[in-house]
Amino acid sequence: MKKVLSGMRPTGRLHLGHYLGVIKNWLQLQEKYECKFFIADWHALTNKYKETDQLKENVRQMIIDWLSCGIDPEKATLFVQSGVKEHAELALLFSMITPKSWLELNPSYKDLKFNLYYQYMRDFLAGKQIKIILTPPPESFDQALEKATGKQKNKIFEEYLREAFHRAFYNQKGIDFKWLKETLMRFGIQKKIVEEVVRNLEEGDVGKDIDTLGFLAYPVLQAADILIYKADAVPVGEDQLPHIELTREIARRFNNLYDQIFPEPEALLTEESKLPGIDGRKMSKSYNNAIYLSDDRETVNRKVLEMKTDPQRVRRTDPGNPDVCIVFEYHNIFTDSETVSDIDKKCRKAEIGCVDCKKILAENLNSFLDPIRERRKEIEKDIPKYEKVLQEGTEKARAVASETMVEVRKAMKLWEF
Ligand code: SF4
Repeated sequence: MKKVLSGMRPTGRLHLGHYLGVIKNWLQLQEKYECKFFIADWHALTNKYKETDQLKENVRQMIIDWLSCGIDPEKATLFVQSGVKEHAELALLFSMITPKSWLELNPSYKDLKFNLYYQYMRDFLAGKQIKIILTPPPESFDQALEKATGKQKNKIFEEYLREAFHRAFYNQKGIDFKWLKETLMRFGIQKKIVEEVVRNLEEGDVGKDIDTLGFLAYPVLQAADILIYKADAVPVGEDQLPHIELTREIARRFNNLYDQIFPEPEALLTEESKLPGIDGRKMSKSYNNAIYLSDDRETVNRKVLEMKTDPQRVRRTDPGNPDVCIVFEYHNIFTDSETVSDIDKKCRKAEIGCVDCKKILAENLNSFLDPIRERRKEIEKDIPKYEKVLQEGTEKARAVASETMVEVRKAMKLWEF
């Protein structure tokens, strides 16, 4: 039977985006394959090494979330990465044979840096009362830049801001701060504010947290996580494909240098969840726009009522457009198809109001979450039981990992103590 390995970083309670993007897939995988699912607490340290107060609690919440959703320890091995020290030993040995350039060229390293810088710039501008408008801009970035005169003081479309930073960041010469400065000013942001944010980016501490060996080398640890169990397949989103390729290259290099120990795992491409947060941006804890699997009924009702709808629909009598409405995106997933097409029709003719539409959604979301909440209540009551699940799973994983390490040490002609 195919061996599948997958992990999640314990960064907090799981939300609907995690459910749709990861857990739903795991529920199917555990029925078909020999699965190992792990809580990647060492990986959580790669960029959050200063914030360890919540780490243990996050691990606890993660296993409770998994079990509440139906991830079954009888079908899959569930364990904590730091409980299997062999991952670290293999990562160290892999780091000896991995050329530095393989890591520096890793696209997700650069992307994460981009996101950190961009988020800083966005938050800084928002803090200076620059209005960041979330609805899509009316024209393309290039057309808007051509027309830009700097008259629209203190507001900018999120997409233009992102595009400007993207062009400044991804070019041959490193970040082109001069161009970024000029462009932001052309879009109407005051010179003083632009100069301050760009200076902070150039000289400040942004991104320093990921200027560590641990962060640069985390794909090596990831390769060890996968190869130590000789996994045949790893479920990943498209953005993770370069990591799997790197894992395969490390496996090949090891096998060529020492002995044929590691299979080259294949990527099981899984679709990333497209479900937006309640404000329309990507669902994320840091945007404070997520609906959590552990939210109670009242919280879900409140969050659904806060959701953005068709921005053009101002009055109840205005016809709406479900194609641009976040509430409708949720209906497409959580509401039966007959009701969805009914809402579609009625919304376009202004025969249903947004509040009523949201009430239907809140009810459906709650019906979806009820069984998860029920199981959570039961699991939370029995602490020794879920701790035992992790304990036993970790021991089971360790047994497999130590067998691989015996082979590895032998192949590398290391002492076996
Ligand atoms: S009626 Fe529903 S689908 Fe239409 S705009 Fe309002 S919330 Fe969106």
